[in-house]
Amino acid sequence: MYEMDTRKRALALVAQGRSLNSVSKEVGVSRAAIRSWQTRVEPLKRIGPCPRCHETPSLPEDPAAYSYLLGLYLGDGCISAGRRGAYFIRIACADAWPGLITACEAAVRAVRPDNSVCRVQAKGYVSVVGYSKHWPCFFPQHGPGKKHERRIVLEPWQQEIVEAHPWGFIRGLIHSDGCRITNWTTRLVGGERKRYEYPRYFFTNKSDDIRKLFTDALDRVGVEWTTLARGSDPFNISVARKASVALMDTHVGPKY
Ligand SMILES: [Zn+2]
Repeated sequence: MYEMDTRKRALALVAQGRSLNSVSKEVGVSRAAIRSWQTRVEPLKRIGPCPRCHETPSLPEDPAAYSYLLGLYLGDGCISAGRRGAYFIRIACADAWPGLITACEAAVRAVRPDNSVCRVQAKGYVSVVGYSKHWPCFFPQHGPGKKHERRIVLEPWQQEIVEAHPWGFIRGLIHSDGCRITNWTTRLVGGERKRYEYPRYFFTNKSDDIRKLFTDALDRVGVEWTTLARGSDPFNISVARKASVALMDTHVGPKY
């Protein structure tokens, strides 16, 4: 039997976008155990008011998971109005990365524990959909039109969370709009052909504001980056310096 605290801690780490592997190592429980905790349905603990539209607004309960979800939302998410004042947040996750689908679902649950979350399978991807009247309270960037066609500015309380949990935010952005790739080449060294690998991270987003939020977060954690133009459009951010890639590998890693 695992302590309740261990279980909570493990699920919270998954909700920050950490891989089951790294959570398993850190908390000291098997991946199978963590997986079984995820599928167990929690009883509703409390139907609390929304921390944001409360008279005295407070931060989301799990700011680390929020920071990750904010990254996912700015990358690949959208919020739309449903019926009777309900909203749904929808985050598209490629079938190729089942671990990311799990982490996304955990993050949606962590931010709105009392609301329902489901997966909708489409061709090649899964939409993780969360229902709540309060999504616009959590993501005031919600608005008509595409994100890259309007200003995206974080509110001070969101900025505070991103500054306190920069890695969660970076993970969310990489998991939605980024990737880790490995280029390689061979070189003759002392008559012997050796293979050299150059891993690097890319982040691609059309919104100048979202790219700036990403690079600001990288600056905060000491990761060096450059802008790569695709044609004349500077849509790509690249992280290629060895020390910076190593930092990213520690905190983000390849998609899973
Ligand atoms: Zn609210």
